[in-house]
Amino acid sequence: MKVVVIRYGEIGLKGKNRSFFERMLKKQIQRVLKPDEEVHHDFGRFYVYTQEPLDAAARLKEVFGVVTLSPGASVELDMREIEEAAATVLASALAEDPSIRTFKVEARRSNKVFPHTSPEISQRLGAFLLGRFPSMRVDVHDPHITVGVEVRQSALVFGQVIPGPGGLPVGSAGRAGLLLSGGIDSPVAGYLAMKRGVMLDCIHFHTFPYTSERSVDKVRRLCIELSKWGDLSLHLFSLTEVVEAIKQSCPDKLTITIMRRFMLRIAEAFCRQGRGLALVTGESLGQVASQTLESLYCIEHAVSVPVLRPLIGFDKTEIVAMARRMGTYELSVEPFDDCCSLFVPRNPSTQPRLEQVICAEDALDVQGLVDAALGTRESWSYYRRGQGVESTRWQ
Ligand code: ATP
Ligand code: MG
Repeated sequence: MKVVVIRYGEIGLKGKNRSFFERMLKKQIQRVLKPDEEVHHDFGRFYVYTQEPLDAAARLKEVFGVVTLSPGASVELDMREIEEAAATVLASALAEDPSIRTFKVEARRSNKVFPHTSPEISQRLGAFLLGRFPSMRVDVHDPHITVGVEVRQSALVFGQVIPGPGGLPVGSAGRAGLLLSGGIDSPVAGYLAMKRGVMLDCIHFHTFPYTSERSVDKVRRLCIELSKWGDLSLHLFSLTEVVEAIKQSCPDKLTITIMRRFMLRIAEAFCRQGRGLALVTGESLGQVASQTLESLYCIEHAVSVPVLRPLIGFDKTEIVAMARRMGTYELSVEPFDDCCSLFVPRNPSTQPRLEQVICAEDALDVQGLVDAALGTRESWSYYRRGQGVESTRWQ
């Protein structure tokens, strides 16, 4: 039977939380499987039974919590069967890369019912493969390919150990609201939060009619891309009234700071209605005027939930590299009319003072504006099923 073996590290260590994490990981594995594929759990490993192990492995590489995986075969505890499976592994590796000349066998027996020890299995299998593939040599130090054998309830035979994304299964750490713009940074921040097990409610602010339907459409497509890594929801809010009120009554140089404070307030109020315990943003330090420590201090002061900034330790080039790897970069660099770029004053304050900001907001009906914005919500859910993503609108 063809199989993908899934190994998970970190979560295996979590004492009595272990079974909780394993349940969460199983759910996350299931969402990338096709209808004819099945997942089983056995002694610290998951096994996905599938007709197409390579294709399934590519999908399983997008499940947080997976440390490594190996496409291969699961056969009876019988030396002949193991030999044939190993020969198949080697033959398909050779078909893919005819320059392979050396191999070694790495056997591990955790089921002591099997009569051969690990070194015996390696030796017998090595000799068998040399007979079947006369052009190959054994190199135990630096082989072109390692044939792995794990003797458990059945024998697993595989030719490669592929790194997974690591992290924790999405949902295992609770929920948070992601402030998602159409830029490069916030999708990466969302990815990193999901990697630590956070389930996301994405929150986007538009300023119709100043910004176009196209910019919201871009955010929807970013959500489709992000939901590859974990099911999520998207909530659109209008910030138009807020921005107009700020423009009318507050000093120009504080526009951005006050606008950000409103974004956080609305996001916080929305998260409190659900089970969200934190907000996540794509802010880093020193990138733009609104991202000095003074600015972050003033902005964050508007709310009491923790504001997580997973990108704080990264340079822009590192963020761009992550965006490329996770698949959102090309989308993020498409042109769009962001509310911030439209309303950004010529010289925003890089060192806003909290007293000034609070004083400027006195001219506004803060609660009234937040409540009105909450009333503009439109919501969608994005679910991954196998290869594709489905979406439904629910408000
Ligand atoms: P990004 O690439 O994520 O847009 P940025 O470097 O352009 O980030 P800013 O535009 O200053 O930085 O935005 C900082 C953060 O504020 C964003 O990462 C995002 O979390 C949040 N944000 C900005 N604009 C919006 C918006 N329209 N809707 C929701 N969140 C937003
Ligand atoms: Mg931006």
